Amino acid sequence: MPEDIFDKTIALLKQSHNAVALTGAGVSTESGIPDFRGKNGLWSRYDPFEYGTMGAFLADPEKVWRMLASLLKVVNAEPNTGHKGMAVLEEKGLLTGIITQNIDGLHQKGGSRNVVEFHGSLDTFSCLACGESYSLAHVKECSLPPHCDACNAILKPDVIFFDERIPDMVLAKTQQMLATADLLLVAGTSCQVEPAARIPHHIHSNGGKIIEINKEPALNHLATITLEGNFSTVLEKLVERLG
Ligand SMILES: [Zn+2]
Repeated sequence: MPEDIFDKTIALLKQSHNAVALTGAGVSTESGIPDFRGKNGLWSRYDPFEYGTMGAFLADPEKVWRMLASLLKVVNAEPNTGHKGMAVLEEKGLLTGIITQNIDGLHQKGGSRNVVEFHGSLDTFSCLACGESYSLAHVKECSLPPHCDACNAILKPDVIFFDERIPDMVLAKTQQMLATADLLLVAGTSCQVEPAARIPHHIHSNGGKIIEINKEPALNHLATITLEGNFSTVLEKLVERLG
């Protein structure tokens, strides 16, 4: 990549009035979390339709918890320099917020404040029987699968399973963040999973610009700038240029 592409990216971010980021699994692989859909990912070991649906959870929560137990390891991951770089962009007023498809909480751990977790998170757990809510800290103390203290039902993490709708509150927050966005920074996602996949097209058709950061770019046809490379390396270079 020519070095001046980073200066051009900073210039574009500075020109924008409301830049929003859309991130996916690729931003967390350098924190040691394999892409769930990749070769070594969760869904290569567990059939998503057998283990990743509300139907499966309701039918046999203990079985689904065999998958969830390995998923819980992601909460021990640390943010990488890319996550931290995104927080710097927000702090400098060059980024308004982040819509992430990740459930690992690493943007927040990295210092980002305005984050919409499109697919939920592993931060909280709910009892589907009585509605009681529990923290991750609480669940970490439990033997798995964790049971509700009030009614003894098995708890479900507040992540969105494949057959669940994105909650209205999350959709509303996303729409609010995108309503006046004139620049979308897409990082670590090939934007193939609906409904997040629609976001770049929505911004583009409203006249907004797209910056893509991906190891394997997928939005060449929409992007004004394509930064082909590792998320952390690219963000380090961008932050360097901010001084
Ligand atoms: Zn309960």
